[in-house]
Amino acid sequence: MQEKRLADLHVHTNFSDSNFSPLEAVQQAKKLGLCAIAITDHDTVKGIAQAVKAGKAYNIEVIPGIELTCERNGCEIHMLGYFIDYKKRWFRNKLEEICSQRIERSKEILEKLKQHGVGIKIEDVLKLSHGGSTGRLHIAQAMVKKGVVRSLKDAFRKYIGDKAPCYVSKFKVTPKEAIEMITKLGGVPVIAHPHILGEDKLIPEFIEYGLRGIEAYHSDHPDHIAKFYANLAKKHNLFITGGSDCHGSGKGHILMGKVKLPYELVEKLKKAKPQ
Ligand code: AMP
Ligand code: FE
Ligand code: FE
Ligand code: ZN
Repeated sequence: MQEKRLADLHVHTNFSDSNFSPLEAVQQAKKLGLCAIAITDHDTVKGIAQAVKAGKAYNIEVIPGIELTCERNGCEIHMLGYFIDYKKRWFRNKLEEICSQRIERSKEILEKLKQHGVGIKIEDVLKLSHGGSTGRLHIAQAMVKKGVVRSLKDAFRKYIGDKAPCYVSKFKVTPKEAIEMITKLGGVPVIAHPHILGEDKLIPEFIEYGLRGIEAYHSDHPDHIAKFYANLAKKHNLFITGGSDCHGSGKGHILMGKVKLPYELVEKLKKAKPQ
């Protein structure tokens, strides 16, 4: 009997907030017997080319993707894009702009930390994001490294979490813009981990903008929740996707393999790609 072909459509690299290089992400997929992964870094496509190259060497299909951070009325929304034409100049320029804003925001957070007696240098934070997208996880990692806090969790709880004193908000892209950009790149826009978001009422609005899928299967979606979102996708005639949201071992244990999506669903998604 032929073995079932399985994929993971939500994988980060060390160009955003994973500690796995693109090569290590592909090697991990190989070790787990997956046939395909999607690289979906936050607001950057810098890890894709290396992953595609590694994928050829290891016979793993690497799907070019992204996880765009958006904001709507103060609420943070993550929009996944699959099969995007990631080399487009206009898109790369837009991402550079977003990543520069991320660095500026990181500096603002460091300024606030300084006022709270915590001295972290921006250079030490930037080292951890490899010229990709810089964020709070890198700041938290730098704080742990310096011995200011005992764990990443502590860093978020005491200093940089959404409701902590050194938090700074950041995002200027709206879900509408994100969906339109992904579509313009020939990609398929999919709402990421809706259970974490907790704003299902927004989905019909996103469909109007061109949303094509729901990430029903995710490491933070228990079985009954995954089932709920798979049904919701069917109800709205949307594609069902899933992935582990693996961040390497940087946030604790390695999540890749926790969600395994039947490859047939990847094939359906491929067909959804605007022609
Ligand atoms: P940013 O995009 O810069 O706002 O940073 C988001 C990153 O911080 C992601 O990797 C999140 O998973 C991580 N993060 C946010 N809140 C927490 C928390 N309370 N504990 C650990 N990681 C968190
Ligand atoms: Fe992340
Ligand atoms: Fe996310
Ligand atoms: Zn993610």
